[in-house]
Amino acid sequence: MGGVGEPGEGPAPPGAPLPTFRWEQIRQHNLPGDKWLVIERRVYDISRWAQRHPGGSRLIGHHGAEDATDAFRAFHQDLNFVRKFLQPLLIGELAPEEPSQDGPQDAQLVEDFRALRQAAEDMELFEAKPAFFALLLGHILAMEAQCWCLQHDLGHTSVFRKSQWNHVAQQFVMGQLKGFSAHWWNFRHFQHHAKPNIFHKDPDVTVAPVFLLGESSVEYGKKKRRYLPYHRQHLYFFLIGPPLLTLVNFEVENLAYMLVCMQWTDLLWAASFYSRFFLCYAPFYGLPGALLLFVAVRVLESHWFVWITQMNHIPKEIGHEKHRDWASSQLAATCNVEPSLFIDWFSGHLNFQIEHHLFPTMPRHNYRRVAPLVKALCAKHGLNYEVKPFLTALVDIIGSLKKSGDVWLEAYLHQ
Ligand SMILES: [Zn+2]
Repeated sequence: MGGVGEPGEGPAPPGAPLPTFRWEQIRQHNLPGDKWLVIERRVYDISRWAQRHPGGSRLIGHHGAEDATDAFRAFHQDLNFVRKFLQPLLIGELAPEEPSQDGPQDAQLVEDFRALRQAAEDMELFEAKPAFFALLLGHILAMEAQCWCLQHDLGHTSVFRKSQWNHVAQQFVMGQLKGFSAHWWNFRHFQHHAKPNIFHKDPDVTVAPVFLLGESSVEYGKKKRRYLPYHRQHLYFFLIGPPLLTLVNFEVENLAYMLVCMQWTDLLWAASFYSRFFLCYAPFYGLPGALLLFVAVRVLESHWFVWITQMNHIPKEIGHEKHRDWASSQLAATCNVEPSLFIDWFSGHLNFQIEHHLFPTMPRHNYRRVAPLVKALCAKHGLNYEVKPFLTALVDIIGSLKKSGDVWLEAYLHQ
């Protein structure tokens, strides 16, 4: 066994005993340009490599100075392949007397969750059924709103054995069928999965100063910030949330992302969507008519998108980083909606949001099967496995916005 390592040591030479580190030392390496993390008790210096991380430097950086073992397993399909990239970054291991967890976390829950994941792997629940996705593709050609679901799944799940085919398929669905960038989607969405409902890490809840969610309401109130009438945010949500998200916010963000990150392939795919759309409809409706149709379609899909994606997260805990274990952090930020044939179809199985968040690479047709195992884990550890009816879930979005607005007003006036 090596001595206690000093910061700044380079990669360990092969064969040499590894230096050991304490959490106290590791915690100092959570700065931009100086980041360490721990996977399976081994310490990696990702400072420079983070820029080359295929999932983006922000995503991996969110786990700086943490035990990222479960996040590592949750996001990567082929662990042996990924481990090859880790090897050169290895700088040491946790000192034997150090706990595997980076904070006051429930070691038993972490262990039980890993056993659950193993059970799901043994049940082959991470194996996609190509027939299921083929049927889905047929169905999508008839119903374009479902494109969002398919491209979402292609981002997470190995529908094809070869990952390159997955990427091409996602670019096709996202670019040609929707007019958006697949890379932009993955950039946003994987951060959401890594740190759901955590400010400045999950882009979905980093919406202040337009809306105040969770802990930001009291903070804004105390600092006397009033950029908008936040106590009415549950009302102006109807004007600028569901109607305009994909039409304004996504369009602007996509264009900026593709240009800044020079995603020319995505830009071409998006251009192919616009060409197809206007070539199809301009001859019938003229250019203004086709433009109007485009706006109408975007506004319609935006309603579906906002209600379906937000019902599982907005009413849950939203705030700053709490460095919880994987399972607890996902469960605190996620709830399910009661399954039924219609709801499973309408939400693209994302009503099983808890299962989707615990196992983002699991194909969606297996959520129903892993759900009982997840429920049992939650019951054992006293974790809240929240399932609600569909309409309640929708109403709860508005309830949460109103509650946050009231908290803001109270703090603004009296604190
Ligand atoms: Zn997802």
